[in-house]
Amino acid sequence: MSGDSAAHSVPGASLAASLDSDGIGGAIYALAAELYPICRSITGGGVRETLRILSQHAPIVQHEVPTGTPVLDWTVPKEWVIRDAWIKNAAGERVVDFQKHNLHVLNYSTPIRATLPLAELKKNIFTLPEQPDLIPYRTSYYNERWGFCMAQRSLDALPDGEYEVCVDSDLKDGSLTYGEFVHRGASEEEVLLSVHTCHPSLANDNCSGMALLALLAGRMAGLKTRYTYRFLFAPGTIGAITWLALSGDAAKRIKHGLVMSCVGDRGGFTYKRTKRGNARIDRVMSRVLRGRDANVIDFFPYGYDERQYNSPGFDLDVGLFQRTQFATFPEYHTSGDNLDFIDAASLAESYRVVVAVIEALETERRYLNTSPHGEPQLGRRGLYAAIGGDKDSYAKSMAMLWVLNLSDGDHSLQDIADRAGAELAVIEETALLLERAGLLKAL
Ligand code: ZN
Repeated sequence: MSGDSAAHSVPGASLAASLDSDGIGGAIYALAAELYPICRSITGGGVRETLRILSQHAPIVQHEVPTGTPVLDWTVPKEWVIRDAWIKNAAGERVVDFQKHNLHVLNYSTPIRATLPLAELKKNIFTLPEQPDLIPYRTSYYNERWGFCMAQRSLDALPDGEYEVCVDSDLKDGSLTYGEFVHRGASEEEVLLSVHTCHPSLANDNCSGMALLALLAGRMAGLKTRYTYRFLFAPGTIGAITWLALSGDAAKRIKHGLVMSCVGDRGGFTYKRTKRGNARIDRVMSRVLRGRDANVIDFFPYGYDERQYNSPGFDLDVGLFQRTQFATFPEYHTSGDNLDFIDAASLAESYRVVVAVIEALETERRYLNTSPHGEPQLGRRGLYAAIGGDKDSYAKSMAMLWVLNLSDGDHSLQDIADRAGAELAVIEETALLLERAGLLKAL
């Protein structure tokens, strides 16, 4: 299949046009708002309920992997069931109430039922003294303990005395749940789009990413594409590790990918490159973000599941796409990351960036140099004559050398134009000339 013949289901319409609509931002926001109240964790009913809702928008298949399954260097953990959690004062009033905000319970908390003096209770309470009105998001996945999270100001307001505490939860053998939709394209080569599903009521991190990806997946479902697209909805770290462990050959087919989180806030864009740093997805991302308020940064092995995908045993070319970079906004991992922190316009803009990336991957033309060992002899083929002795001949011969050198099947003509600092039209014209001379083969 040649690079410029990607088929679309709507004749004459670009893939981007087929995926877009005026109401897309509002639709993503509404779906994120529907997901927001659910108490998710790395395992348990919250993730299942989330995937059930997302499945109304895309044909996402739920997979269950039993507790105790070995996955790479890890083991699928127990399933967390949370029913209620509260702290009551001497009058029997709930002064901390999971029903009011699910961040109030330490995520993955073991069960507890006790009456304790305030000083003792405080050892199991997490607050943010620097942001005294916000509830922190805290987890304790791999260290079994109980706990609560609350605003420092609310804690300060509690008088000394005895408090009754209850975390009505179970940690039991069950399974880890992840969702997946594979959209088959003409090629077996895959593009991975991955979001984490494990955070409870945090709107930007990552109701925004889950909602954006599900609506994109739903719209892709009816379209013909060149690549196969794998949409993965999995709990952070352990979910990606589980998928990688069980993926068999699928991981080897992934050629490009993006992890998405925090795509709904009003800040500029952040793109964190793959470990390789100059993968095709990195070049496409830089191009799509050019001219926008965007910060493109190098890979580092902390953040979201790009860490797992870029681990040396897999080395997949997967970058991270966000608006404001994680851990740099004050609302990050607090109750401040609520539905007021994201908006439809920002979600729509993020969606359009992802669509533009897909459009670029689908349509950018790439060639293979058919004589790649050393430079081919251009004079013998009359190619120097073809570019003539006019004042542009130096630029034209440079364009020829760039196209030949970078036509490795990975670099597109746009990539070559960027690298050469040349107009795309000049690079395209050169590629045509070289193709006619039999020195290039279209992919
Ligand atoms: Zn997070």
